[in-house]
Amino acid sequence: MIESFNSFEVAQRQIQQAAEILDLNEATRDLLIWPQREFKFTIPVKMDNGIVRIFHGWRIQYNTARGPAKGGIRFYPDEHVDTIRALACWMTCKTALLNLPLGGGKGGIACNPREMSERELESLSRGYIRATAPYLGVDKDIPAPDMYTNPQIMAWMMDEFEMISQRHHPGMITDKPLQIGGTEGRRDATARGGVISVREACHALNLDPTGSYAIQGFGNAGQRAALLHQELLGGGKLVGVCDSRGGIYNPDGFDVKELVTYKLTKGAVSGFPGGKAIDRDAVLEMDVDVLYPSAMENAITSQNAPNIKGKVICELANGPTTPEADKILNTNGIHVIPDILASAGGVTVSYFEMVQDKYSYFWEEQEVHNQLDKKITKAYQTVTEAIREKKVHSRMAATVVSVARVAEACELRGWV
Ligand code: GLU
Repeated sequence: MIESFNSFEVAQRQIQQAAEILDLNEATRDLLIWPQREFKFTIPVKMDNGIVRIFHGWRIQYNTARGPAKGGIRFYPDEHVDTIRALACWMTCKTALLNLPLGGGKGGIACNPREMSERELESLSRGYIRATAPYLGVDKDIPAPDMYTNPQIMAWMMDEFEMISQRHHPGMITDKPLQIGGTEGRRDATARGGVISVREACHALNLDPTGSYAIQGFGNAGQRAALLHQELLGGGKLVGVCDSRGGIYNPDGFDVKELVTYKLTKGAVSGFPGGKAIDRDAVLEMDVDVLYPSAMENAITSQNAPNIKGKVICELANGPTTPEADKILNTNGIHVIPDILASAGGVTVSYFEMVQDKYSYFWEEQEVHNQLDKKITKAYQTVTEAIREKKVHSRMAATVVSVARVAEACELRGWV
């Protein structure tokens, strides 16, 4: 079979396989391999030069049997409906695996935020909400940031929603700034969840967590994982890092704080003092104890999988490994912590944010960290049990647990 880089085809195959293992009936399978609802719209924005540009946007509510749809909005130049479908499907799996009372969704706008001014971005963000407002809300669908979106964009989006509805609705969107209903601990939640899962994996494998690690993709998740790995695991040498512009390598380990400051000021990791320049793809193939793919889909393929030497792979990105690559990693005995578990910290703390917004009562930061730790540790154990029980690899075990929960909710509602 030719390796598919269409993430939705990959996601559909994963659901089909899980459905087979669970022996689900035909209708349930058919329901779960398709999004429940899709919205496609255009967003006109008057650019700074006075010319109106038309942007294309999507919001997909993949499944809402367990609760309202939940998932981020991406601003990405090559946005494609199938990628959003896949990501919305994986959000459904993530919320189910973490046992959150939520469904899954995802949205996106085809745009290049790097080439847009702050005013243009605000206009685009508000336009997205004007197009989707009737379908959003704390009991319908709750967006959050994703690739190239951030708390400021969430603030504009929430404000637009509240202007339209003329009431406060802080829980309609998550990862907001603290002053307007955000929660402590959300900004580093994705990375924290990933590092907690690495802690559990090291424990299970009897692996010293203070060995070497490498990070592919140095955005919010990658940067925070770099710092939290040392903080939560009591050490570790970051020997390789890359972003979209290039990679760097240092066998003695980087000073992580300085590297993050460098990236934030220069916009890239290349040129960081003490780092030897390497090809950005070479970071994935470094001989490390833990590898964090933290960029985007389809980074690990059948081409580079045979060269991967990391003992533990913690997938902070969504869908970084193709199914063909997955097989190779498993044959080679690499311990993969699948994306729907490794990157679920973000949506978990988003859920805590919704809970706090609902009660208008906010937790201490440590409380958020503790609750997140409990949820991720529990999910890790559930996946470990499913691996043993179903005799499948980690991604399929996690998918089987999720699909079983979503399918049960659909059946209880009488949908299938
Ligand atoms: N975009 C993040 C993810 O892919 C977070 C979603 C959310 O908090 O709703 O998991």
